[in-house]
Amino acid sequence: EEAFGGRFPDSVLPTMETCGEVVEAIEEHMGGKLKDRSAKPHAYEVPEEDYRFEKSPEYQRLQETFKLTTASGLPNPFFTVHESITNDRTVIGGREYVNFCSYNYLGMSGDPTVVRATREAVAKYGTSVSASRLVSGEKPLHRQLEQGIAEFIGAEDAILFVGGHSTNETVIGHLFGAGDLIVHDALSHNSIMQGAILSGARRRPFPHNDWRALDKILSEIRHEYRRVLIVVEGVYSMDGDYPDLPQFVEIKKRHKAYMMVDEAHSIGTMGLHGRGMSEHFGIKPSEVDLWMGTLSKSFGSCGGYIAAKREIIEYLKYTAPGFVYSVGLSPANAAAALASLQLLQEEPERVARLAENSRLFLRLAKDAGLNTGMSNNTPVVPVITGNSEHALRLSHQLRERGVNVQPILYPAVEERAARLRFFITSTHTAEQIRATVRATAEELDRIDPSYRGADRPLPELVDGQNALADPVMPPR
Ligand code: PMP
Repeated sequence: EEAFGGRFPDSVLPTMETCGEVVEAIEEHMGGKLKDRSAKPHAYEVPEEDYRFEKSPEYQRLQETFKLTTASGLPNPFFTVHESITNDRTVIGGREYVNFCSYNYLGMSGDPTVVRATREAVAKYGTSVSASRLVSGEKPLHRQLEQGIAEFIGAEDAILFVGGHSTNETVIGHLFGAGDLIVHDALSHNSIMQGAILSGARRRPFPHNDWRALDKILSEIRHEYRRVLIVVEGVYSMDGDYPDLPQFVEIKKRHKAYMMVDEAHSIGTMGLHGRGMSEHFGIKPSEVDLWMGTLSKSFGSCGGYIAAKREIIEYLKYTAPGFVYSVGLSPANAAAALASLQLLQEEPERVARLAENSRLFLRLAKDAGLNTGMSNNTPVVPVITGNSEHALRLSHQLRERGVNVQPILYPAVEERAARLRFFITSTHTAEQIRATVRATAEELDRIDPSYRGADRPLPELVDGQNALADPVMPPR
């Protein structure tokens, strides 16, 4: 693209596997507008789209996506303003809704104990640490939180970053490079792919959760590379399923690869005590090289971490660009995550309640004939509607009935995989869940009467009450 000054349409990129196909695609898609940059300077006109952003194909593509969303006449579902703490409830435009849009899985954001600890930290240390930790930004809270996370997970040590996304980007981007191979699940989060691209390593996705396909790839090409990194997620945030981790660990060992597990949605939610996928599967934490997680979900804060062997953490602390050249985690964020971590260990019943709520939601949704895809008793439950317009409409109709749930539309997922995504939290009540599944099924019947199959019963409402109209406050 640089050489010929054009762009391939996105749809063409995955079809090019050989050099020959690249040549064909250049002829087919750039043939008419090849720009000869070697021509004399005065003979070359820089097209407007290359210096006026609003004319660029990138911006025009975004406008096309907006058109798809607004064609239905329904309001824009993005950037909704929430005027309160978001847990099982939220307030939008002055009205209270039952909420399934936040990954405040354990109710830590807004919890009075967490808020108190955060206030005290801000009073003591201020609102910023005002420097990189390496050079005078270090506060006692940082090491307390790192050691707490390492101990909780069962790793030797941990390092904090200011964002979950930037954790993946900077750590993968920094640890691996040209001559290495990064193999990741095809449904990996954007931060993993960005890190892999940044690294300059060869990047190969394998089909979702398919450890056999991964094994085959590595059997064929492991020897061509110096280091290999396998990246999977604990719980997949769009589908609510998880990998068969022991199988991946066995493959990682056999092929002498590194392995990273992104626990953004599994730390605090999986395993009896919320210790994540190692606890869920009963595997030794030392069998995975990089346990990555975020502070923004179960830990009610903002930031990310890597828990790993002492040597890896030491290396990252002195060399990872997103750590060395970035400010240390703010006192408020460190204190909120530390208080959440302590509370989680003192109150494992939060994890149990979350697991119970997740199971109840999934069971009721399946009974009602909703298509929950691959969801597997995790706090992420999609309801696949089959197209973006139905997802948008369903979300809108549920909002009218007092339920807030985000639609996930094309191009975030394939058009036929458009969905609503329900995030379950420990603070939801069974009544809220029952009433929501029932409302979802009823509204889907209105949109597409054939969707659920005829005569399928709707979930019972407790005592015949509409729990959405009169939600019961859960214990805090
Ligand atoms: N990894 C995964 C799997 C995620 O879903 C997310 C975002 N929710 C991130 C990383 C980035 O984390 P954060 O939002 O805390 O930056």
